[in-house]
Order: sequence, then C-alpha cells, then structure tokens
Amino acid sequence: MSQRTFSIIKPDAIRKGHAGAILADIEKAGFKIVAIKKLSITKPQAEGFYYVHRERPFFGSLTEFMSSGPIMALVLEKDNAIADLRKLMGATNPANAEEGTIRKKYASSIEENAIHGSDAEDTAKFEIGYFFAGHEMV
Ligand code: ATP
Ligand code: MG
Repeated sequence: MSQRTFSIIKPDAIRKGHAGAILADIEKAGFKIVAIKKLSITKPQAEGFYYVHRERPFFGSLTEFMSSGPIMALVLEKDNAIADLRKLMGATNPANAEEGTIRKKYASSIEENAIHGSDAEDTAKFEIGYFFAGHEMV
C-alpha cells in the first residue's frame, strides 16, 4: 500500500555536493518526491525534531551538526516507503552499511551520515508535519 515517509539530506551531504546524486538514487528506487525544500534550521529547531533522542549522549553534537548548514527536507511516497527508504539508506554507521546504499556511498561517519529517514508511521507523521504544511505536498 502506498505510504509516505520523511527524509532529510543532511548538511554533510549538501556541503560535499551529493544532494543531486542522492535525489537520483531516491527516484531510481521508485520514490515519488511529494514535497522538497532546501533550508537551514536553528539548533532549537533541530532539538525539537530530534526530541526522542534528548537523553542520548550525542544529542548536543547531533543537533549542532544538523544546524551547521543547509539541509533538504523531503516527503517521499511509494509502497512500503518507510522500510524501503531505511533499506536504501543503509546502516546508521556507514562502516556497517551495505554496498550500494546511500550511507555507504556518501556518509562520512556515524553522525555525519548523509541522510535521515523516518523509522515508523507515527514518527513519519510527526516529522512531515514538523517541516511541511498540507498545501506544500503535491
Ligand atoms: P536517522 O534517525 O537520522 O534516520 P538512524 O535511525 O539510523 O538515523 P538514530 O539512532 O535514530 O539513527 O540516530 C539519529 C542520528 O543520530 C543518526 O542518524 C546519526 O546522525 C546520529 N547518531 C546516532 N548514533 C550516534 C552516535 N553513536 N554518535 C554520534 N551520532 C550518532
Ligand atoms: Mg532514527
């Protein structure tokens, strides 16, 4: 069944000029780009987005990184979008990511790992709403 997920091309990938290649991989994998924007977020906005990770030891560094430069926010749609995007992204730590995955190809480290993808239906809904209004999705 057709499903929507939320993704971010993270600041490291934008800085290195990989945004276009990552978008091409996403489209080649059969996702429809329902919404897209390039923007910068503040540290408090990154803290709100990653609220579930607030107790993790890397929370300060992660939110610093996510507010360190422009990102691209995306809403993506296909059958089984949430699980399929996670598969296309590869493991959180690029050292463990499978060949051909976005993190294997473009990530620098476990933190600067090129892309975010929602991990469940409820988080996808929250994350889409955090970045997009209904009229921005087509
Ligand atoms: P994402 O939520 O970004 O799609 P994920 O679900 O694979 O990635 P999470 O465990 O949700 O990973 O962690 C969120 C993000 O926090 C990671 O993508 C990464 O940028 C950062 N992160 C995770 N683990 C570490 C760590 N041990 N050290 C530094 N940063 C980390
Ligand atoms: Mg996650």
